[in-house]
Amino acid sequence: MTSLTLKGVTVNFPFVPYECQKDYMSKVIECLQEKANGVLESPTGTGKTLCLLCATLAWRERFKDTISARKITERLKGEEMFANTPLSSWGTAATDGDTPTYYTDVPKIIYASRTHSQLAQVIKELKNTSYKPKVCVLGSREQLCINPEVMKQQSNHLKVHSCRAKVSTRSCVYYNNVEEKSTDKELVNSVLDVEDLVKFGNKQRVCPYYLSRSLKQQADIVFTPYNYLLDPKSRRAHNIELNGAVVIFDEAHNVEKTCEESTSFDLTPYDVASAITAVDRLLAEQAKEASHGDTVSDFNMESLNSGLKLELATIAKIKQILLDLETVIDSYDVPNEVGITKPG
Ligand code: SF4
Repeated sequence: MTSLTLKGVTVNFPFVPYECQKDYMSKVIECLQEKANGVLESPTGTGKTLCLLCATLAWRERFKDTISARKITERLKGEEMFANTPLSSWGTAATDGDTPTYYTDVPKIIYASRTHSQLAQVIKELKNTSYKPKVCVLGSREQLCINPEVMKQQSNHLKVHSCRAKVSTRSCVYYNNVEEKSTDKELVNSVLDVEDLVKFGNKQRVCPYYLSRSLKQQADIVFTPYNYLLDPKSRRAHNIELNGAVVIFDEAHNVEKTCEESTSFDLTPYDVASAITAVDRLLAEQAKEASHGDTVSDFNMESLNSGLKLELATIAKIKQILLDLETVIDSYDVPNEVGITKPG
């Protein structure tokens, strides 16, 4: 382990860093000290992840010390606690330039990667450093649920529904153990990825999904896949607070694609054909209603559980739009493997 000072911050690094690694870490610290956004690039194989982790965690430790020093200064009202070490020598990492700003909270670090397997790699790198922050990795029920009854549900939607039902009636034994186990020393002091959390959950009979949510409150560093941050719905569901946090996007060239995906949906020829069939059913229902003496505007779609009232002309228009869409889609000759892209 090597100790070096960059921008006034002592950084512990697992080995003697190369010049490019020192430069990279200096820039990370500079961004954090100046509260600036940074876009950093470094060639493959230069240990970007390790540099990011060490620089950020070193800065955070320094920040924590500075805040503690400030609090002590406030309490001592100007007197020095250690005669030979004036508190002013503890640094200014927690100030905004020359203006002393008093912070009460040490920022959480939110570290985002594209996939969970990339996050697992990052956590592995963290284990090789001397830093032992409180860690939390966020995942979905799909990855973290260990209740066999819920796991056998066919779709993700059904799993979520079934889990929520169990939680509200406290009928999942794993959920009921979360409160007690979330303060377990082995858990709180360990750096666990998704796989480790599931192992811990199975061993201790406690739900890894709710455990991870509970660990998030006290975590110094939260590991999450991009989409939990970039998709507002997902961000709300996971209750991720970005205010005052340090956010790191690892391999940020993937962000654009993830944003595209989170606002995209698939519309298959099957979807369009099903919609046309549904409209045909509506028309047939309406014809039946009309033959029983109801007026067109009275036609009530409650018979199909939609709760909507539509006029015949509107239904016909919808069918025409769907037919036109089907014709346009059919007119493209789409190569099997590669597909085609058209302007929006
Ligand atoms: S509480 Fe946890 S273990 Fe229980 S069903 Fe929900 S996700 Fe699965």
